[in-house]
Amino acid sequence: MQNPFSEEQVRQLNEIGKLPPTEQQAKLQAMFSTFNEEQIKFLQNQQKAVQEQGGQCPFCMIVEGKIPSQKIYEDDQVIAVLDINPATRGHTLVMPKKHYALTAQMPDGELAHLFMVVNNLAKHLFETMKAEGTNIFLANGAAAGQRAPHVFVHVIPRYNGDGVNFEWEGKKAEDEELAKIREQILKEGFEIKEEVEEEPEEIIEHEFEMSERIP
Ligand SMILES: [Zn+2]
Repeated sequence: MQNPFSEEQVRQLNEIGKLPPTEQQAKLQAMFSTFNEEQIKFLQNQQKAVQEQGGQCPFCMIVEGKIPSQKIYEDDQVIAVLDINPATRGHTLVMPKKHYALTAQMPDGELAHLFMVVNNLAKHLFETMKAEGTNIFLANGAAAGQRAPHVFVHVIPRYNGDGVNFEWEGKKAEDEELAKIREQILKEGFEIKEEVEEEPEEIIEHEFEMSERIP
């Protein structure tokens, strides 16, 4: 495949390539909005090639069974395993089988399927683990606390007094400031670019029943 990037983009990508992996992630994410589909695809293939040369992503190794895991669910696109350093009992990681570093790289259909599994699993954990709540948490980029270059969603069953803390201190914002931020966000408009894909038909293996949401 021919390099689809402009000279300036190649220069920026080379600069990013010299940074430590966690910083690469943040910089790459910032660049992503400027990439077209062909460019994103090229990067994905490149990442895959790097992995095949031995620098393998730990989550891809879980997917391939090279790292043992306690599997809760698997279909042709998604796998869910128990976190080996759980925040609470039943803390599960749900990830695409295909290597994507960021959700921005994922086709809409695959992302929708991932979150459908997350939602079903959260409900199932809530019931089977006798949880009193659940947190669903996703980090995109090092600045957001992403620690591995593979998209994954935490599903964390919550129990009263479990000591897990997701709280932050909000700082009161003035109306004028909020209006400015809104203006910045909407300066060039905001449209949903929807590309709907089919749900996968084949379920390879599953240890809990996917069910309709009970109201
Ligand atoms: Zn991976």
